[in-house]
Amino acid sequence: MSLTLGTAQSERGKITYGEYPLVRHPIGGADALPVIIAQGQGDGPVFWVTAGIHGIEHAGLQVIHRLITPELLADLRGTLVAIPGLNPAGLRTLQRRAYYHDGDPNRLFPDGRTPFTDPDKAPPSALEQAYGQLFEEIKQSASYFFDLHCISIGSLSFAFRDRLLYRKGDEAARQRAEATSAKMEAMAHAYGHTLIADFAVSKYIDEKLHRATTASIAMLAGIPALTAEISSSYTPARATVNASLAGLRNILRWAGMLPGDPEPITGVKVVDPGYPTRRRSVARVTTACIVHHLAEPGDLVKVGDPLVEMRDAWGRVLGILYSEYDGFVISCPPGILYYPGEASVLLAIRDDEPLVGPYPDTFFD
Ligand SMILES: [Zn+2]
Repeated sequence: MSLTLGTAQSERGKITYGEYPLVRHPIGGADALPVIIAQGQGDGPVFWVTAGIHGIEHAGLQVIHRLITPELLADLRGTLVAIPGLNPAGLRTLQRRAYYHDGDPNRLFPDGRTPFTDPDKAPPSALEQAYGQLFEEIKQSASYFFDLHCISIGSLSFAFRDRLLYRKGDEAARQRAEATSAKMEAMAHAYGHTLIADFAVSKYIDEKLHRATTASIAMLAGIPALTAEISSSYTPARATVNASLAGLRNILRWAGMLPGDPEPITGVKVVDPGYPTRRRSVARVTTACIVHHLAEPGDLVKVGDPLVEMRDAWGRVLGILYSEYDGFVISCPPGILYYPGEASVLLAIRDDEPLVGPYPDTFFD
């Protein structure tokens, strides 16, 4: 099978390189995405892996650089398509966003709605349009899709499970969503890291999570897709890069693209509380304070366990915040200075929400 993306063209038994045009600049020149295509001698699935849609999240670039090697190619069946930097503007300026789009770049993939034509609203930005084109390329060729992110310093390394939405009353769409979701579950287990579901279905649209790369690709194209969160932003810790790399190779083995048994995931904590979990921001401080965390990423907690000590600037204890849930600590947001109402811990709590559910009734109106 031959595959072209921008100036990169697959060649059987080779690693090829090129660029995919993204956004033209008013002053001339353009941002382009780096593209790597590795095609094995044997036929197999087409696996897309991307990183760096948030410009401060760098670990995924190293994972992709170190994944695609001549040794991997020798054993590879099928095709790997990799984009190590989805947001060149953000990466270049060390910003989460691209300076030419005012908003989170990982909320710009298509959502299946007809573009609005309200003259009082700005049309889709150049970046949004470019991601829409890229979505079409992914939809055409991908068997699987994997997007690499980072969450915060010292965080667990984990896979985020998207929830999938379908049109109410469309039985075929529901069945496709269930089938895609089941493959995503298997893919996540193959990764071998801690597994956490994203927010509940009801919060998906509010947070525009249905327009994140993986959610959009899984929902609209029926392609199993997974987000990995690899601990710290900016300069990566080598152990977390290695652990993600091992997990990614395990997914390729699961997909029949590499031979052999899964390799162990070492150097990061893998937490399994024995029940499915989803994320929730907790330990919202009740007064302006400096927090001292009493539980670390990876620690299992029970209802009533102390999570955070609130202190004043002089170090005097103002109060303690206790867990309202059983679960485990995923991460702590950057910094320890908080205003009232801000959450100081990201917790994985028991998930009793369905992984597949209908769009809200008014979604397509
Ligand atoms: Zn991210």
